[in-house]
Amino acid sequence: MTAVPLIGVLALQGDVVDHMRALEAAGARAVRVRRAEELDAVQGLVIPGGESTTMSKLLEIFDLFEPVKKRLDAGLPVFGSCAGMIMLADEVLDGRPDQRSFGAIPMTVRRNAFGRQVDSFETEIAVEGIAGDPFRAVFIRAPWVERVGEGVQVLARVDSGDGEGGEQGGRIVAVRAGACLATSFHPEVTADARVHEYFVGMVRGADAGPVE
Ligand code: GLN
Repeated sequence: MTAVPLIGVLALQGDVVDHMRALEAAGARAVRVRRAEELDAVQGLVIPGGESTTMSKLLEIFDLFEPVKKRLDAGLPVFGSCAGMIMLADEVLDGRPDQRSFGAIPMTVRRNAFGRQVDSFETEIAVEGIAGDPFRAVFIRAPWVERVGEGVQVLARVDSGDGEGGEQGGRIVAVRAGACLATSFHPEVTADARVHEYFVGMVRGADAGPVE
């Protein structure tokens, strides 16, 4: 078990610095990942918020799409927030036809889903696996999850006011599937590092190690 794991933040675009700060607050060492060699060194990866269509394009321009996909397929622990959640899905609704995603989590994600009601908002939510007070979740042109496949655990829902979201009510906004974690919201913009602590715990448990 690695006491202080090295976790990369995909740094092509988006809120990289906030994730690095939150990871360090959660007991990890954080590095930017822009090249395949940098990716090889990390034991976990954060895919930040930003714009998934742009991120998809930049991943190809920087020749990083396949290397990231390969490591995810091999079980590298990953946390995607907002656009990062979209990048992890195996089906994206309201995306651009040429936008690609890693398909690491069997789920259908709808881009800009809350936008039809309200673009950006904050609310307190309970997140399974995170003890204590509810988590202050910040949603910025956020996606929601419309379908989860086998092996996907729903960690949080939020009432979107549309009366949809299944029997429990509310749209799915946080999921875990094996070594993959995804949230519609942006835990890195608050001072509360509990979601990052949860992810660092996943990385410690997986002990993926760098690529030799
Ligand atoms: N709407 C963005 C997208 O489709 C995600 C927004 C965000 O990451 N804050 O990628």
